Amino acid sequence: MENKKIGVYICTGCGIGDALDIEKLGEDGTEDRTVAVCKNHPAMCSKEGAELIKQDIESEGVNTVVVAACSPRVMYDVFDFPGCIVDRVNLREQVVWCHPPQDEDTQMMAEDYLRMSLAKVEEMDLPEAYMPDEEMYRDILVVGGGISGLTAALETAKAGYNAVLVEKEPELGGFQKKVDLIAASPYKDIKDNDLKLLIDAVNGNDKITVYTGATVEKTEGGPGVFKVTVKQNGTGKEHGIGAIVNAAGWVPYDPQKLDEKLGYGKSPNVITNMQFEENSSGGKVTRPGDGKEVKNAAFLQCAGQRDPNHLSYCSSVCCTTALKQALMIKKQDPEANVFVVYKELRTPGQAEDLYRRAQEEGITFIRCQDPEVKAEGDSVTVEAEDELLGETITLDNLDLVVLATGMVPVSSFGRDVAKEEVEESEGEELEDVPLDVIRRSNILNLTYRQGPELPALSNEFPDSHFICFPYETRRTGIYAAGCIRRPMGRGTAFEDAAGAAMKAIQSVELAHRGAAVHPRAGDMSFPEFAMQRCTQCKRCTVECPFGAINEDEKANPLPQPTRCRRCGVCMGACPERIISFKNYSVRMIGNMIKAIQVPEEDEEKPRVLVLACENDAYPALDMLGMRRINYNPWIRVIPLRCLGSMNLVWIADSLSKGIDGVLLLGCNSGDDYQCHFIKGSELSQIRLSKVSETLNRLALESERVHFDTVSIIDYKNLPEMFEKFMDTIEEVGPNPFKGW
Ligand code: SF4
Ligand code: SF4
Repeated sequence: MENKKIGVYICTGCGIGDALDIEKLGEDGTEDRTVAVCKNHPAMCSKEGAELIKQDIESEGVNTVVVAACSPRVMYDVFDFPGCIVDRVNLREQVVWCHPPQDEDTQMMAEDYLRMSLAKVEEMDLPEAYMPDEEMYRDILVVGGGISGLTAALETAKAGYNAVLVEKEPELGGFQKKVDLIAASPYKDIKDNDLKLLIDAVNGNDKITVYTGATVEKTEGGPGVFKVTVKQNGTGKEHGIGAIVNAAGWVPYDPQKLDEKLGYGKSPNVITNMQFEENSSGGKVTRPGDGKEVKNAAFLQCAGQRDPNHLSYCSSVCCTTALKQALMIKKQDPEANVFVVYKELRTPGQAEDLYRRAQEEGITFIRCQDPEVKAEGDSVTVEAEDELLGETITLDNLDLVVLATGMVPVSSFGRDVAKEEVEESEGEELEDVPLDVIRRSNILNLTYRQGPELPALSNEFPDSHFICFPYETRRTGIYAAGCIRRPMGRGTAFEDAAGAAMKAIQSVELAHRGAAVHPRAGDMSFPEFAMQRCTQCKRCTVECPFGAINEDEKANPLPQPTRCRRCGVCMGACPERIISFKNYSVRMIGNMIKAIQVPEEDEEKPRVLVLACENDAYPALDMLGMRRINYNPWIRVIPLRCLGSMNLVWIADSLSKGIDGVLLLGCNSGDDYQCHFIKGSELSQIRLSKVSETLNRLALESERVHFDTVSIIDYKNLPEMFEKFMDTIEEVGPNPFKGW
């Protein structure tokens, strides 16, 4: 923005005015900048306070507003002035609520934060929404015609959007086609499968285009601008698509991989729960080996499930399914002996009623951790140490043993091959690593630089965050629903599909406004590349956690802004520092760092810069304020969109400015990953390992720069963390560049 006219508005409410010398703050905090107006108000967030700012915008021509008041995490709707650059100085939560009032250090902190904000707005520009040149679309592609896919398509249509449903089998219905009787709410009894009603509803809806016996041959583009080629009967047809729901489902765990003790393969009468459904067409259960009647049957739960050697998770539906299947046998022959051998029986919610029903029908439950199946031809025996009776029970003459095997996301096909490639590449340059852990299952066939399918995190499910974002995958605008996302039963799949469809619609609408999806929902900024200086190093195209940057044959990055989540990881990665946002850039943060006043060495007041992830660490700092917990006043905090956006030059800027130490606060990575941008936090650690060598070369102690993780619930640990780091700084002594 040309000709910025800056207005500074200091709130004196919420204890700010009592704790600080407001006049001095207004004078000293603004002394290095040209500020058009600097005003106070006892409650800036009140109608009158906001009006004061609006009047200056209208009559004084203020176009850049700095509000020094509460945390930017609150009152953002009050301090939203369209057409103006707005920045917030967090005086309340991070200065006066967590530091002593009328104290020199508290005052210095407030003044620094105001200086830093003014340095920031000087570099900031108003983001302009990215609108693609090409035509934009709102239709939703749904891949998979099982319960989840059918429901997602139907919910999409109910919301007024068109859906294109692609099913690879010749008929709709998915696995449920094989199921005649179901266990469903209210779980008082088993009942007929009503799948046909759902299929008919989809087929009869003129907002849904159905392809069966079809696959997705190619998916290019991004949210709002996907071009998807659907192949059916050898012919491809292109659809313009706004967003995608991947409901491609699951496959059963391979029973051949189970422990020998479970007897799979030793007798035709030892089958899996899936095979039970296939063998009981019309609801009639027979002995698989010879089709004779079933008089004695045993169900063995958790076959390979909740077992780190097989599937470490619970597939959530197998216990209820076993109850249903056991009841099917009992209904057919009330005299049949039916046993369920379980480690724990899990029947969440109303499904507990089916458990009671099974007990009433005379089904016997045996709690045993390690049953053994002995089978020879048609004769099958199960030995189980009953934990409740404390004795070994032998179930012999069994006509049928059913193993509860689990659900594996269909997207994990080919995982082994891809994983091997990644492992083989370790130790090589980052750009040579073959594109993360890529799926090879040919579901979406994305034409993305980072690979054709959805990457997965824990347990091979293609999710993107340990806690916060259901349905979200690591590809923007593509949502996972149903058993490809996590194991679930019919009831949950209905809800899941509706949720994913709504997220897809939300993504489409945001793309049409040029705005980001969460966690930066509504953000209009996007990364811009000064391509003249690009060295084609591929850092950005490799490190973008969302595959939002394609690459041409000369390795030039080809950003796809509608896929971008605005995390800034590319900005942190770029060694040439040519990637920036209108309101977030390497230079902007660099100038904020330079605006910190560093006391001379003999004043013995060290300064530590905290680069804090705005998703967890920064809110954790706010929590300290809200709980009035004091912490070291010599730290200065700069929130980052993601720690992965940290550019190493900021460390150099800090240390050359005389700042004594830099503490990076990011999210946990690893198995309980919590980074909102997947691996940003991890990437910043990798970058940091490189900075240590540089620091040592400059004769600066590597201890001056430290990385730590914090989640919002760990806020109480922060003061101690700061103290520990201050102790380290004291040990290594003041920064020798101080005062240069
Ligand atoms: S790294 Fe983040 S900001 Fe950069 S292109 Fe990817 S999603 Fe967008
Ligand atoms: S990281 Fe920077 S220099 Fe490297 S390819 Fe991307 S834009 Fe070009």
